Amino acid sequence: MAVFKLDNVEDFYEIGEVIGSGHFGQVRELLERASGTRWAGKFLKIRRSSCSRLGLDRSSVEREVEVLQALQHPNIMALRHVFESRAEVVLILELISGGELFDFIADKENLLESEAIVFMEQILEGVGFMHSKHIAHFDLKPENIMLSDKEAPKPNIKLIDFGLAHRFLPGEEYRSMGGTPQYIRPFYSLLRLSGLSPFQGETNEETLRNVVAMNYKFDERYFSTTSNMAKDFIQKLLVKNPNDRLTAEECLNHPWIKPLTRKQVANRNRSSINMKNFKKFNARRKWKMSYNMVWVCNRLCRLRLLGKSSTDPDEELVRPLCKHTV
Ligand code: ATP
Repeated sequence: MAVFKLDNVEDFYEIGEVIGSGHFGQVRELLERASGTRWAGKFLKIRRSSCSRLGLDRSSVEREVEVLQALQHPNIMALRHVFESRAEVVLILELISGGELFDFIADKENLLESEAIVFMEQILEGVGFMHSKHIAHFDLKPENIMLSDKEAPKPNIKLIDFGLAHRFLPGEEYRSMGGTPQYIRPFYSLLRLSGLSPFQGETNEETLRNVVAMNYKFDERYFSTTSNMAKDFIQKLLVKNPNDRLTAEECLNHPWIKPLTRKQVANRNRSSINMKNFKKFNARRKWKMSYNMVWVCNRLCRLRLLGKSSTDPDEELVRPLCKHTV
């Protein structure tokens, strides 16, 4: 079982700015006092009683820690230590300072498929490693695909947020109610070659219905610059039965990722990502993220008004989130 240090995290790290926040807490930059090295600290509130509606069960945090400990790979965020106090657990993580992959791409004017594949390969390497350890992420979406350093000539992908990740038994069916409708089958839209998900509906419900019914199309209006090899790659992932779907390892050997002939290489180099749609999609995604964060904040504030006393330690969860988002 994972060892949680009972020392005070502030004795070892200077706690800096908030660099991210999620449903369960905040991520802050940390400066290690002894070495001057920068890290990220994920501060998670622990539910103090089974009737409390705020915070996480300790068992969920233990699961996230155990998963991260099992996943030491260049494309997966590394966990260094874990500190625990009465109401909080702090994960000391590798600091990933290059931001989200999708923001990096959205800043570009053009992107060839061959350039997108460099990122896709790294994502597949990370996912393949995870699956080889019998761990599924269950929340792979643009927000959880980051870059270690966007200024590097070949930026390195880092997969983050293993809060919903689970170990699975090979061959056993696992049904998760978590995740985000557009990304439920994450590979379907990973790099959004058309800038749109082939399942995109008007509402989340419609998108979900399309995913469940496998109702998708490569609309020429949006996929005219997409190569046939890319469409073939996507099609082989849009398969309902997971046993018939390409595995991450098989994806890495698909000719779109690893072309075998000169013609295939040329084909990839001629095809590009539809940047106009990609930028539109990314802006919409960002807007939705802010909306969701304000929604969470309002809900937490309402919970507080509905009878939590101001001396409740869980209240601390409300304040930082409000401060960060409003
Ligand atoms: P969610 O609500 O999506 O489940 P969460 O509470 O589990 O989120 P994370 O997704 O792990 O939290 O982290 C929240 C945000 O903090 C991320 O979207 C990212 O922007 C930032 N972040 C997380 N880990 C790191 C890291 N190691 N380095 C830099 N930033 C990070």
